[in-house]
Amino acid sequence: MKIFKFGGASVKDGNGVKNVINVLQKAGASDMVIVVSAMGKTTNALELVVDFYLQKNPKLKVAIDDVKDYHLQILDSLFLNRQHRVFRKIDSLLSDMETTLERNKSTQYDYLYDQIVCYGELISTTIISEYLGTHGFKNKWLDAREIIKTNDTYRDAAVDWKLTQSKILEKVDKMGMTVTQGFIASNTNNFTTTLGREGSDYTAGILAYCMNAHSVSIWKDVPGVLNGDPRVFKHTELLTQISYEEAIELAFYGASVIHPKTLQPLQRKGIPLYVKSFLDPEAKGTSVKKGQRLVPEIPCFIVKKNQVLVSLSSLDFSFIVEDNISEIFKLFHKYQLKVDLIQNSAISFSVCLDNKFNTFEELLKCLKATFSVSYEKNVSLFTIRHYTKEAIRFIETDKDILLKQSTKETYQIVVKQQD
Ligand code: ASP
Repeated sequence: MKIFKFGGASVKDGNGVKNVINVLQKAGASDMVIVVSAMGKTTNALELVVDFYLQKNPKLKVAIDDVKDYHLQILDSLFLNRQHRVFRKIDSLLSDMETTLERNKSTQYDYLYDQIVCYGELISTTIISEYLGTHGFKNKWLDAREIIKTNDTYRDAAVDWKLTQSKILEKVDKMGMTVTQGFIASNTNNFTTTLGREGSDYTAGILAYCMNAHSVSIWKDVPGVLNGDPRVFKHTELLTQISYEEAIELAFYGASVIHPKTLQPLQRKGIPLYVKSFLDPEAKGTSVKKGQRLVPEIPCFIVKKNQVLVSLSSLDFSFIVEDNISEIFKLFHKYQLKVDLIQNSAISFSVCLDNKFNTFEELLKCLKATFSVSYEKNVSLFTIRHYTKEAIRFIETDKDILLKQSTKETYQIVVKQQD
């Protein structure tokens, strides 16, 4: 039993969907679960739908029509005849989505977000399942919300492993091909939840763990895990093999190639992860396995943009010690601010925060009541794993450095953002 995961970029148009067949032919279709994200930038488009709806913005209709037209165009390039039942299925999903909006009474953004954004994955998997079916790849479409069970934290739900495991064993066939959605799940009341942006990799990891899969392959538009994001760094190299530990570190520091939560379940059961190019399915890509040394052994660069650097000192000149630190962390937790770097001295405490949920201003109010606070918005956090002198020089050139930190393997700087 294998798990294949296709991200939004791999199925962004008709040719992308056709290429799924090419990948299956070259990489071997077997007993497997295929996990698919929403097509192209559909999740962003649906986020806009939610925003316009809540703002009562008249552009709502256009935003919904954009989502419809985009998928209809893909359908027309895949199915010659509009009589094919897939057209009715997609139409019905889109009407469900509109009905959900019409009937909605909630003003709770995170809840509504999950109820709407899930249609991206429901639509993409329906199209892919039908397309594979008409091309000889018999498969079963499965609603991931029946198997991935979570708590009530909309937009960032935590998996209920016990329940999920039993649902997966009950509902996913070990034999044959199943097509299901990444990213989406449901809570005990059967409302839709999501696992956080880019969470489809994590779904693949959850399925692999619960089914003791043989391997997970993530099909990407890059040749595998590179030693830097090619959108940020001009010269990047493919890492052909890395250990789970290294991959977890890279993902933790912000390498966007693998969702950070994906790796631990795989590591626990020693399930290999392959990151490969959907454009060249026979190329080697990257393998992530237990205890593998990094090949090639080169520095890896990661950048996280749009961070906030906050420095706190006490109002009464006392030291920042355990009790204040625990109070500070409680607030970070309350406002869902992710801490990416910590630096502590006797009188000041600095952190680099990811303001993912735009709650920084509220946090600031609370912090100011107890501490003297200074902060710098729009900073970037650069991390180098396995740093060398040249790597540091490369990364520091022409940067306005606000903070530095290093351990044996990891070098980090916080800099003012230039763009
Ligand atoms: N469609 C979701 C997103 O764009 C999940 C994923 O692609 O992994 O974030």
